[in-house]
Amino acid sequence: MTGGQPGCRCGDQILRLDPRAEGMLDQIDDAGAVLFSRYHDVAMWPWHGDRIVFVGDAAHATSPQLGQGANLALVDAVELADAIAAEGSIADALVAYSRTRRRHLGFYQFATRALTPLFQSDSRAIGWIRDRVFPASRWLRPLRRRMIRTMIGADRGLLRRPLPLAI
Ligand SMILES: Cc1cc2nc3c(=O)[nH]c(=O)nc-3n(C[C@H](O)[C@H](O)[C@H](O)COP(=O)(O)OP(=O)(O)OC[C@H]3O[C@@H](n4cnc5c(N)ncnc54)[C@H](O)[C@@H]3O)c2cc1C
Repeated sequence: MTGGQPGCRCGDQILRLDPRAEGMLDQIDDAGAVLFSRYHDVAMWPWHGDRIVFVGDAAHATSPQLGQGANLALVDAVELADAIAAEGSIADALVAYSRTRRRHLGFYQFATRALTPLFQSDSRAIGWIRDRVFPASRWLRPLRRRMIRTMIGADRGLLRRPLPLAI
């Protein structure tokens, strides 16, 4: 397989990383046989309008660096149900929903955007930094705690308490 960008011998690169991919690569004759993904961010606020509310990817799709899209959509659903139960009208519930979700979603939108170049860049320097800093963070307790908080979908930013795990 020589697909991907013109002149790119992507198959050779993949086989160098993991020879077990050979059987799969044999089935691919040209770039037309593979799907290329494109990322885009959805940025909006508030996440409601007049008798309409946006949740999940429709409200805040991001690139998949942190693997949190489904988690965030589930928290949206919980918070929306709580707001409807707590407020006297749907209009008030939607206002409360947009306000409540702002910090949590804002953190993940910011973090995903900031990390995208680390994971998707062609820069060797950035890749070098990523491959050293991320494994080392396992041994630095504060950094490890923060990474766990972020990867379970509970983080709300550097100075804010995480979401309580009971949600
Ligand atoms: C490759 C990949 C890997 C991912 N990995 C992770 C991960 O590890 N962890 C994680 O948390 N998230 C992950 N995500 C993100 C996660 O899949 C999404 O964030 C999540 O599915 C968003 O849920 P949603 O319900 O908002 O949207 P969707 O899951 O996209 O659901 C929207 C639904 O609406 C339907 N629909 C669209 N238009 C219409 C219409 N006009 N009428 C009726 N129905 C319609 C669609 O068919 C679809 O079923 C990943 C995403 C991708 C692409």
